[in-house]
Amino acid sequence: MRSGARVCEERARRLAEQQGASGGRVGSYSRIVQPGELDVAHGAILYLDDITVSFDGFKALNALSLSISAGELRCIIGPNGAGKTTMMDVITGKTRPDAGRAFFGSTIDPLRLRENDIASIGIGRKFQKPTVFERLSVFENLELALLADRGVKASMFFRLNGEQLDRIGAMLTLIHLKGSAQRTAGLLSHGQKQWLEIDMLLMQDPKLLLLDEPVAGMTDEETERTAELFLSLQGSHSLVVVEHDMKFIDELTRVRSADAPAKKVTVLHEGSVLAEGTLADVQVNQQVVEVYLGR
Ligand code: ADP
Ligand code: MG
Repeated sequence: MRSGARVCEERARRLAEQQGASGGRVGSYSRIVQPGELDVAHGAILYLDDITVSFDGFKALNALSLSISAGELRCIIGPNGAGKTTMMDVITGKTRPDAGRAFFGSTIDPLRLRENDIASIGIGRKFQKPTVFERLSVFENLELALLADRGVKASMFFRLNGEQLDRIGAMLTLIHLKGSAQRTAGLLSHGQKQWLEIDMLLMQDPKLLLLDEPVAGMTDEETERTAELFLSLQGSHSLVVVEHDMKFIDELTRVRSADAPAKKVTVLHEGSVLAEGTLADVQVNQQVVEVYLGR
């Protein structure tokens, strides 16, 4: 079967599978961002102000405020149940807050959007579990991400142009899978699947990437490569990385040149920011040690 047709068939199958499922993740691949839409004139790409989310009276987020600068790589740590995933659910329209405001750039209110439209404003979300199309090849997965805004019929007869082929090639190089383009994605290692999914998000040219525990289950070597990948994306992208792996956080936040600004780590606890500062700062913060690091 022609690759485009196979890709379409797989997408239709996945869509049918997900009908009625709550996550609606396929929406993450639903549209391509129009360049130049985002106004970050004030320096912040994401601004959360006093966000509260209650589940049956329990505050998963409690007046959470947070600001992420354009191009920043921000690490978020905190104990289980602190509200890290809920924060991402709010930013991506999966959970509606009871109170609070948010801005993506200076003008876009992400809280008004549906989950399926979040990719189209330039926010890419990576869930913890890889969700690549296991039966398709690595290349076809990327092709699918590239064609995601087209209708099924249009994709059937679509052929990639040279520029698009180059783009997929560059993406494969970025995640060290150039030699595995024709491999069935289901046969990749856990780490490789995670990278492929990040690549699929990148095909949509997101401005902000939300990554929830991206190195969970990875080998040490895969973790190191993931740190390199994220470091290469900062600047051209903004990244919010939730992780428990402190060696990984250290790798991401280490000062690499004298003129580079120190990176911030945010500690969440009981739905609010408990501490924010360099990794060294938060590691010696007594409250942080008590609720998280000392455990
Ligand atoms: P983290 O990602 O920091 O471990 P979560 O954001 O997943 O924490 O969860 C924060 C708190 O909110 C937890 O106590 C969790 O049980 C609760 N919670 C999250 N989602 C829901 C939900 N849909 N319904 C009820 N409680 C929830
Ligand atoms: Mg979580």
